Amino acid sequence: MGTLKVQGLRKKYGKTTAVDGVDLAVENGEFFVVLGPSGAGKTTTLKCIAGLLEFDDGWIEIAGRNMSGVEPYHRNVAMAFESYALYPQKTVFENLASPLRSGRTGRYGAEERRRRIQTVTDTLGISHLWERFPRELSNGQRQRVALGRVLVRPADVYLLDEPLSHLDAKLRAAMRAELKQLGELADITTLYVTHDYQEALALGDRVAVLRDGRIVQVDTPEQVWHQP
Ligand code: ADP
Ligand code: ADP
Repeated sequence: MGTLKVQGLRKKYGKTTAVDGVDLAVENGEFFVVLGPSGAGKTTTLKCIAGLLEFDDGWIEIAGRNMSGVEPYHRNVAMAFESYALYPQKTVFENLASPLRSGRTGRYGAEERRRRIQTVTDTLGISHLWERFPRELSNGQRQRVALGRVLVRPADVYLLDEPLSHLDAKLRAAMRAELKQLGELADITTLYVTHDYQEALALGDRVAVLRDGRIVQVDTPEQVWHQP
């Protein structure tokens, strides 16, 4: 759990300005959506927050701590990219346990790992699949496990980059409902980026509209709906 603040973030790739002075203030426990078309600067913003990309100007604060000079590994964020990969040789349970076993979160003992995995898989409706291998899962189940791998890690802020983009309409709707429920149940701080207007309105406590690297609107979904 934690707040996230971004102030005056700017990032250029050569002559291309990808992020052009972005400000964000995400509250503790909030599900905050950044909505914008392809190329708007969504992924770039997330990578800067995660510490995976150097930027040209601005500052980032997570859980009240300035992230300047803080390595990605030492930022308490969990980030998911569009290409959600699972270890093919590991069971669902092992896929979910490995993020809790390695690195910064390696301090979790077997019992705590099991407890966290239980909570996440219950919410995502995949607890009966613990012993399966990825090849034995449907696409929807695989996507759930991949999302579970991100959410099982304790983090101040979860950064989700179009996690539903590869799903068909029916599965998207189901996953959307589950994500929303997870946010409500677990009280986790989430920054979720998407180009999907409906998804943004369905999920967000608040929605920021990003266009050409700038935030042009921040509102509740109801208010965004009423904009022309
Ligand atoms: P979004 O996630 O909203 O689709 P991105 O953050 O990926 O947007 O990209 C924002 C802009 O930066 C786009 O114009 C894109 O072409 C450019 N861009 C992204 N990554 C790179 C890169 N590695 N090198 C050069 N330009 C990039
Ligand atoms: P979905 O509607 O989620 O895409 P599918 O029709 O692909 O589901 O699969 C239906 C059920 O069959 C799922 O519960 C899944 O676990 C199981 N299943 C799918 N593929 C395999 C497989 N190769 N081996 C074992 N079980 C499978």
